[in-house]
Amino acid sequence: MAGWRIPPPRAPTRTGSAHAHDRERKVRELEADGLLCSPRIKAALLKVKREDFVPPEYRDYAYEEVPLPLPGAAATISCPHSYPLFYEPLGLDLGHRFLEIGTGSGYGAAVAREVVGNAGLVVSVELDPLTHAFARGNLEAGYRDVVLVLGDGWHGHAAAAPFDRIAITAACEEIPPPLVDQLASGGRLIAPVVDAQGRQVLTLLTKRADGSTLREELCEVLYVALRRPAGAAPTSRAAPAARQRRAGSR
Ligand code: SAH
Repeated sequence: MAGWRIPPPRAPTRTGSAHAHDRERKVRELEADGLLCSPRIKAALLKVKREDFVPPEYRDYAYEEVPLPLPGAAATISCPHSYPLFYEPLGLDLGHRFLEIGTGSGYGAAVAREVVGNAGLVVSVELDPLTHAFARGNLEAGYRDVVLVLGDGWHGHAAAAPFDRIAITAACEEIPPPLVDQLASGGRLIAPVVDAQGRQVLTLLTKRADGSTLREELCEVLYVALRRPAGAAPTSRAAPAARQRRAGSR
C-alpha cells in the first residue's frame, strides 16, 4: 500500500511465546502512547493472537506497526495501533451490536467480539470473496458467532440493524448514508473520510436522539479505499469527476 513500507515475505520463524511477548509489549506501548485506556479493549488485545490473522509469509511481522497484505485484490490487516485508534473513540463496550465494514483478516472482528462479549453482536461485511474466505478461515477456530457477510459494505447489513457502533475500516469519500440510517439513536460511527485535498481524516459521527448527527475530525490516517462493485451507483463526490472525465473525452 502506498505510504507504507511492507516488510519482505519470509518463512515464519518466531515461536508462540515470542509472539506472546510481542503482544504484551505492543499493548504496553499502546497504553504508554495514550492510545489505549479501556480495560475491555486492553484485555481483547492481550487475548487475540494477531499472528493467527496474518498470512504465513508475514506472520513474523504480526506486531510491527505496518499494514500487512492479505489474500484479495486490495486488502490489508491494519497496523496494530489502528484497533484502539478506532475502538477507543467509538467507546466500544460490553453488549454492543457492532458492524464492521471491511473484514480484511477478521482480526478487528475478533477483537470487537472479545469487547462486546456474549450479549453483544459482531457483523462484518467484506467486498472481496478471497479476503472474505481468508477471514472466515481465521475466525473459524474461536469466533464462529461473528456474522460474516460477503457484499458491498456501502449498504451495511439492514437485516441486523440497528447497530450501536459502526467502524468503516477503508477510506470513503462520504460516509455511506445507509450506514448512518442503520446506526441506533445515540450510536457512534467511525471512518477515514477523504477530504477535498485528498487527505484521509479519521471522523467520528454521533447520532443524537433526534436523529441529527455530530461529526468530529480526529486525526489524519492512511487506509485502503472503500471500493464499489462495478455498476454500483457512484458516491456524491465521485459523480462530478466521472462526468468531467466523460465530458473531457468527447
Ligand atoms: N478490518 C480489517 C482491515 C480491513 S482493510 C482487519 O482487521 O484486518 C479494508 C478492507 O475493506 C479490505 O479487506 C477491502 O477488501 C475491504 N473493502 C473495500 N471496499 C469495500 C466495500 N465496499 N465493502 C466491504 N469491504 C470493502
